[in-house]
Amino acid sequence: MAAPKISNPDRLLLAWPLIQIGSLAAAVLMFLFPGMVSSDSQTQPRSPAATLPVRGLHLSAPAPKDLSALLEFIRVALPQERVNTLILEFDYGFDFRSRPEFAHSSALGKDEVRQIAKACREKGIELIPQINCLGHQSWEKSVGRLLGKHPEFDETPGKYLQNEGIYCRSYCPLHPEVHPVLFDLIDELARACEAKSFHVGMDEVFILADPDCPRCKGKDPAALFAGEVKTLHAHLKQMGCRMWMWGDRFLDGKATGIGKWEASENGTWPAVDHQVPKDIVICDWHYERAPETPRFFASKGFEVVACPWRKSEVSLAQLAHIKSIRGGADRIAADRALGVVQTTWCGFAPFLENYKKQRTGEAPVKGAPSECVQCFSALFKALGEKP
Ligand SMILES: [Zn+2]
Repeated sequence: MAAPKISNPDRLLLAWPLIQIGSLAAAVLMFLFPGMVSSDSQTQPRSPAATLPVRGLHLSAPAPKDLSALLEFIRVALPQERVNTLILEFDYGFDFRSRPEFAHSSALGKDEVRQIAKACREKGIELIPQINCLGHQSWEKSVGRLLGKHPEFDETPGKYLQNEGIYCRSYCPLHPEVHPVLFDLIDELARACEAKSFHVGMDEVFILADPDCPRCKGKDPAALFAGEVKTLHAHLKQMGCRMWMWGDRFLDGKATGIGKWEASENGTWPAVDHQVPKDIVICDWHYERAPETPRFFASKGFEVVACPWRKSEVSLAQLAHIKSIRGGADRIAADRALGVVQTTWCGFAPFLENYKKQRTGEAPVKGAPSECVQCFSALFKALGEKP
């Protein structure tokens, strides 16, 4: 069932600040807008499609000033939309204490994140924190905090000044000190989130086995990639966390025609057959079209979720793939098609702003935040419909 429509947009605009005041305001809102804050989503029978095991949303961790807005979004909007999984990408945007060099006073800290975990727990939403591992260690001209604090971990130290000519930096997966640091950060964030699953990213890794890295030169990129998957998995497993990761580096970009972004043309794709653990959940992201890659991952033994971004028609085709696998004759594969995760890639505040506009019936505008909100709405409306 789709979220109830609000007939008077002005009243909803007035309502949002009130939502943040607390239970008294919530009681008032329940009177004024019974559909908005009621517990209908828990009490009404779910349609078959709404029982997809994973109905997820991926967000960037908010700035501290937006914490209360996120808490209300979790308590009010996510149950209405029937989101049951929230992946929150922190990367190094957390006030870490386990490694003093990663203290970050202008980011969320343990106490704030515990509030997020509590809100999710109370609404039956699984909170999955994320730190992007291996690739994505820089963005445009900025170097991320891992390599900023530990430049010795860079796979290509001294190369690509100001990140000129590259997409993102990578850390060296064979550096002997990188994992002790990374694991302290992962452990601390996972504990704050009370996490049972942890997302390690690993998408769009273009720099790997660099010829100038004394440890990696000449090595097979697939073996290096698989090795890093196994290392991260083994650590997460011993701390009781299931590993989630993006799937693109496991896909053969040339043979499938998917290309070098949503799949791999840099030699990592054979890693999928390098005995990587099969209890990893693969986040199979595709934003321009919807290849039948969820079926590929299910056939390889992984559980898989399909991840759209800003094109509603792509998200609906991805959902159709998931439903097709779940309804198919191969019952083992059927159980592996867990569901969908909507990605946003615009920051939490712009996403929320556009979500509120969409709920009040404002005409959609061009641009990623508005378009991913429309995609989210179309996808989760379709989730509530029968196949
Ligand atoms: Zn290396």
